[in-house]
Amino acid sequence: MKPDTSGKVQISAKIKQLVADGELDPQGCSHLSEIKDHIPSSEGCGKCLAMGDTWVNLRLCVICGHVGCCDASKNTHATKHFHETNHSLIVSFQPGEDWIWCYVDEVTHTP
Ligand SMILES: [Zn+2]
Ligand SMILES: [Zn+2]
Ligand SMILES: [Zn+2]
Repeated sequence: MKPDTSGKVQISAKIKQLVADGELDPQGCSHLSEIKDHIPSSEGCGKCLAMGDTWVNLRLCVICGHVGCCDASKNTHATKHFHETNHSLIVSFQPGEDWIWCYVDEVTHTP
């Protein structure tokens, strides 16, 4: 089965547009300018898939496109990705959830 990532690609494009339009209040966060267009690295958490493990929800790094599992998942790969790379901005990978979380500034950006 071919994964359909079209909706997921739109997530980063949409957020980038919101930032460009000044729709997001930075709330002291200087990381919004680091958001880039990208293709998500995988349909699910790549590291969990490699281990044959499962997750609760997915988080997308909007700086590089890494897909990792959330903090409610036992492997917390999204947070581990931040510690490994310093990519501080993640969004939910679930359709219809509009927020951006910054690990460094601990703020939630919502349109
Ligand atoms: Zn920030
Ligand atoms: Zn994972
Ligand atoms: Zn990243």
